[in-house]
Amino acid sequence: MKKILPTIALGSMLALQVQAAENKDFNYHVDNFADIEVLRYEVPEFNSLSLQQKKMLYYLSQAAQAGRDIIWDQNGRYNLRLRPVLEYIYVNFDGDRNSAEFKAFETYMKQVWFGNGIYHHYSNDKFTPGFSQTFFDSEFAKIPASRLNLSEGESTADFQALLDKIIFDPTFMPKKVSQDSSKDVVTESAGNLYEGVTQQEVEDYYNAMKDPADLTPISYGLNSKVVKKDGKVTEEVYHLNGLYGPAIAKIIYWLDMAKSVAENDAQREYITKLIDFYITGDLKLFDEYSILWAEDTKSDVDFVNGFIESYNDPLGMTGSWESYVNFKNREASARTEAISSNAQWFEDHSPINPIYRKPEVKGVSAKVITASYLAGDAFPSTAIGINLPNANWIRAAHGSKSVTLENITEAYALASIGNGFNEEFVIDKPTSDWMDKWLYATDMLHTDLHECLGHASGRLAPGVDQDALKEHGATLEEARADLFALYYLPDAKLQEIGVLSDPEAYKAEYYKYMLNGLMTQLNRIELGKDVEEAHMRNRQLIAKWVLEKGKKDKVMELVKRNGKTYVKINDYKKMRTLLGQLLAEIQRIKSEGDYKAGNELVQKYAVKIDPKLHKEVLDRYAGLNIPPYRGFINPVYNVVKDDKGEIIDITLDYTESYPDQMLRLSRENSNL
Ligand code: ZN
Repeated sequence: MKKILPTIALGSMLALQVQAAENKDFNYHVDNFADIEVLRYEVPEFNSLSLQQKKMLYYLSQAAQAGRDIIWDQNGRYNLRLRPVLEYIYVNFDGDRNSAEFKAFETYMKQVWFGNGIYHHYSNDKFTPGFSQTFFDSEFAKIPASRLNLSEGESTADFQALLDKIIFDPTFMPKKVSQDSSKDVVTESAGNLYEGVTQQEVEDYYNAMKDPADLTPISYGLNSKVVKKDGKVTEEVYHLNGLYGPAIAKIIYWLDMAKSVAENDAQREYITKLIDFYITGDLKLFDEYSILWAEDTKSDVDFVNGFIESYNDPLGMTGSWESYVNFKNREASARTEAISSNAQWFEDHSPINPIYRKPEVKGVSAKVITASYLAGDAFPSTAIGINLPNANWIRAAHGSKSVTLENITEAYALASIGNGFNEEFVIDKPTSDWMDKWLYATDMLHTDLHECLGHASGRLAPGVDQDALKEHGATLEEARADLFALYYLPDAKLQEIGVLSDPEAYKAEYYKYMLNGLMTQLNRIELGKDVEEAHMRNRQLIAKWVLEKGKKDKVMELVKRNGKTYVKINDYKKMRTLLGQLLAEIQRIKSEGDYKAGNELVQKYAVKIDPKLHKEVLDRYAGLNIPPYRGFINPVYNVVKDDKGEIIDITLDYTESYPDQMLRLSRENSNL
């Protein structure tokens, strides 16, 4: 996974009350509508940065804002024409703003803002309006023609008919991204990455360009829209003088400002490369930029700004425009550095057959960052971790940066306090209190151990094919990394290297892990279906295996109280021993390429769900008030100047409302 999405949005993660007490003046909750909750995140330590760093973050936030219209246009051909109409109505409506029609309109407006267009950010389905066409048409009629931005030869009536179709006709361009491989996914997808071309034509077009022998292939199609011109398939490339030029010009302006306050030469060099890429659209330059970016591990301030992830393209080629602006969290990064620098010790003490330990292990360097601005496809819905660049050959030859957005994770956790999850699913008050105290810290540590050491540990026996475990490879690999992390969480080594103060803290993570693997993750699966996704299979495999193997010693059991099922852990120490045994077995399976044993483990423990327990979990979840999707608005950057107009400080303001932020962004950044 190059992009780590939050699971905690579903309430599987709880938070530290101590932290909540410290942050009691900070209100994480901003807005609620449809299936969405909008939160805000705090940028701790911003005030202790140097003025130069603050300026750089401010300029980068402007470069991020400047590209907003690009993602709106990529997400749908008509989004940029529809948005000003909706916003005009939203601002100028002079009827009863508490009426059902207006309330439904407001919900739709907020959904469109959240989706950066008319499609749901996750399901890709077109939003269904709860207001009537009569309401819309009569409000539309009040908009002055000068505000409508009509195309040449288009009448107001034509435009209204088009918008009616876009909003109210559920069969007209219904899905942003279609993955139905029985159909032409290019023509079936409503996203604006292709126009007038078929899937076959696009594939032929790129196949003619690709050289299979090229060991450093550029990412074809990453920055272009494929169209037909005069009967010929061609690309409209995103660059300064091409598609999205006016927005790109502003991005370049602000990147140039950021360059003027860069921290060092390496950073100046990669910003220059990125600007050159935006000017020319040349993907070779983007690769050169990506290498320089991946290799700069010294700078504190860092950012992503470009066409990056291709989830919105049914063919997985074109990058959605996004931006993450951030700076290093030194304290938390010290934690990952402490772990990485002791990688060999962990490897040497792993409870696996010594012949499968790596004689020389290199921990993957990972850093923890504080996000200070999110934009494009990363806004308002955002990832909690990113691992870039995406080009495989660059990752292999030059490495990648693995980044955890700690203040975003923390905001999710703190906003989850009091959502009733603990009361509903955790067996007793002492366990719940212990989780409140330690789950946040141990969950972060679990992720660090999994990412920095788990995946990098162990080795194959000579001659074993790395793909020998076939379709179970991903599940077993995730299980191996999780088990490595779980096994070490109770280890005194963590106190010795100073990353966890309390030797009993691990119990919070153990309880959550087993509860999630046996019960609560089932909330994300439809009744009647099996467990499919690799991470979910891995968690169920581990939890069910431990439940069964620990039965005779009563290590863990499922108990009933008042008709409800609870996970009860009786012996945490023995649980660790069992986890070590399973780690040894899964390492053996991987090292020897024992497909048969791997398949048996997965089939027996990871796939099937008890339908009664599944239904119980779904029912109990339904009683909680946990919104399925969450996202964030950004802080507002205030520039403080002296009488000569020089910037003397940058401060952050956290009071803006969700509609105010969205309307301001439209005012400041309607660049296309
Ligand atoms: Zn993993």
